[in-house]
Amino acid sequence: MTTSGNWRPATSLVHGGTTRSHHGETSEGLFLTQGFVYDSAEAAERRFKGEDPGFVYSRYANPTVDMFEKRMCMLEGAEDARATASGMAAVSAALMCQVKAGDHVVAARALFGSCRWVVETLMPKYGIETTLVDGRDLDAWQGAVRDNTKVLFLESPTNPTLEVVDVKAVADIAHAAGATLVIDNVFATPLFQKPLELGADVVVYSATKHIDGQGRCLGGIVLSSKEWIDENLHDYFRHTGPSMSPFNAWTLLKGLETLPLRVAAQTRNAALIADRLADHPAVERVIYPGRADHPQAETIARQMKGGSTLVAFEIAGGKPAAFAFQNALSIVEISNNLGDAKSLVTHPATTTHKNLAEEARAELGINDGTLRLSAGIEDGDDLLEDVDRALAAISAVR
Ligand SMILES: *Cc1c(COP(=O)(O)O)cnc(C)c1O
Repeated sequence: MTTSGNWRPATSLVHGGTTRSHHGETSEGLFLTQGFVYDSAEAAERRFKGEDPGFVYSRYANPTVDMFEKRMCMLEGAEDARATASGMAAVSAALMCQVKAGDHVVAARALFGSCRWVVETLMPKYGIETTLVDGRDLDAWQGAVRDNTKVLFLESPTNPTLEVVDVKAVADIAHAAGATLVIDNVFATPLFQKPLELGADVVVYSATKHIDGQGRCLGGIVLSSKEWIDENLHDYFRHTGPSMSPFNAWTLLKGLETLPLRVAAQTRNAALIADRLADHPAVERVIYPGRADHPQAETIARQMKGGSTLVAFEIAGGKPAAFAFQNALSIVEISNNLGDAKSLVTHPATTTHKNLAEEARAELGINDGTLRLSAGIEDGDDLLEDVDRALAAISAVR
């Protein structure tokens, strides 16, 4: 086994967590097996008693999935983790495993659509009370906390408008109330923001996004202290079965090897595109966590190590102009996904956020001219030429 606590991220992401079989394979082994066999009845008994630390069943743990979990723990600085079939399996397990009827949850209202459904619709069905707040407003977090508040939940930067929440301040509010802070860290990536160091208790990812980063498979992961996982997630995970497939874990291990290279290239391209958009008269607002004009630039400087692979912007001329911009792009693809090697653009009002009432969209800063662009790893000059063509096309419809 090659693991070291002292490696920097780029090294951990290539070597971390690797366990080799007797063949000494270079690439991580793909253990497509549901179960495991034992040399004797006594060996099976020892394995089940926990006296012998081997594997028992792939719903609980699998060698390939275990390598993915260990590599992610090294990157995140977490003691333990459970990999899941999707990002939403990670979010729902992380939240549901620690609450019961009568408990209260406070969440930022700017959440990924399905996360908002879990908080707003699913939890109340089981008697869990929930309150949504403006995540940027620390007084709102403080005011929403009650005696029975168990969990605070947020993402930062947010989807799609890249608002930033002060993670450390919200962690302090959570801990003063005896609650746990869960962070969905997808938009920041594990390279640019370390929620556990900022005081969060639990971090969740959709590995579908930057961690795969090449459009191949879904995945998710929940990371925390060993104590939190043992007390909250361990049994929930074993018995409800949101487990990651070994094949997806193998794909994601390959994704992790190139994560720093891809995120650096994507961030460079996103910054170029943000600056180009900001200079254009048809663009009313650019929200990019790497720019000095971001509304929470000071919080970003304190809690993030990099800008973002995403840019949010608002163009004059509403939906016709936003559609013309998208349709004129030839390299950037129209897609609701993000974090991919391919540049992708989405119009939240008619796709990812179409189910929200117009008023709720307005609260999140989404209007008919809002677009979200996820920068890929293409040549930056080609992307700028594509964006220039799309900007020219808006003038035609305005
Ligand atoms: C995509 C996403 C999810 C859900 O992940 P899936 O892998 O699609 O289930 C959750 N949170 C955020 C912020 C996301 O971007």
